[in-house]
Amino acid sequence: MGIRLNNRNAMSTPPDLVVFDLDNTLYPYDVAHRRALETVSKKAEDVFNIKPEDFTSLYESASKVVKQRLGRSVASSHSRLLYFYRLAEVMGVGSHPRIALDLEQTYWAAFLSKSRLFDGVVDLLEEFRVANIMCACVTDLTAQIQFRKLLYWRLDHYFRVVVTSEEAGEDKPAKAMFDLVIEKCPVSPEVVWMIGDNEERDIRGAKDAIDAVTFLRVDRLSKFSRRETAADVVFDDFRSLREACAGMLNQASSQSLRS
Ligand SMILES: [Mg+2]
Repeated sequence: MGIRLNNRNAMSTPPDLVVFDLDNTLYPYDVAHRRALETVSKKAEDVFNIKPEDFTSLYESASKVVKQRLGRSVASSHSRLLYFYRLAEVMGVGSHPRIALDLEQTYWAAFLSKSRLFDGVVDLLEEFRVANIMCACVTDLTAQIQFRKLLYWRLDHYFRVVVTSEEAGEDKPAKAMFDLVIEKCPVSPEVVWMIGDNEERDIRGAKDAIDAVTFLRVDRLSKFSRRETAADVVFDDFRSLREACAGMLNQASSQSLRS
C-alpha cells in the first residue's frame, strides 16, 4: 500500500481546488454493482421466473441497446432505469414503467447498502476542509443518483461544487465537464488537483481540459507500471495520500488561519 510520484514536483504547491471523481475512486464500484445486480436478479426470478443466467444476458443486451441508441457517452447511457425499462419491454409482461421503476429502486437500494467508502477518504476530505482547500466532485451519470450517493455517505458538505455529466451534457473526458467545475467555483483556482481512477476520463481528461495535477487511484500499486499512466501521482491507499499531503496541508492550514 502506498503512493508513487511520477512527477516529483506534483505536490510541491498546495492546490486551490481538488477535484474528485466519484465511482470507483471514493468507493469500489464493481463489488456494489455485482451485489446490486444479484439482488435484482433474485427479484426477477421470484416475480417473473427468470433464471439468473437469463437475467444476466437480458441485462447486458438491454444496456447495450440503450448505449447504442444514444450513440455517444452521455449520462443517460448509464441509466439503470432505461436498462430495466428495455429489459421489461423484452420480457413483455406487466406494466413496463412500473417494472422498470421497481427494479431500478431495488438496484440502487442494494447498491448503496452493499457499498462502503475506501478507508481514509473521509479523513483526507476532512484535512482539505481544515486547510480551507476547496473540493469538487465531477462524475458521469445522472444527477439524482450521484447526489443520492453523496448524501448516503454524508459527503455532500465536503464538495463546494458537484458536476454530473447530466448537467454538463457529456461524459468525461469532455472538456465541458471540467470547464463547468471551474465556472462554478466562486474564485478561479490556479492550482487544481484531479483525483480519479480512469486513465482516459479522469487523468488525460483533466490534464487536457484544465491542466490539472493528476492523481490516479489503482487497486495495487505494486502491480502497476509507471509506463501505464500519464498521472503525476499514483496511489492505492488514501491514508498514504493523506500522509504525503500532511506537511503541505499543515502549511496551507496555518496560512489560512493567518489570513
Ligand atoms: Mg471512476
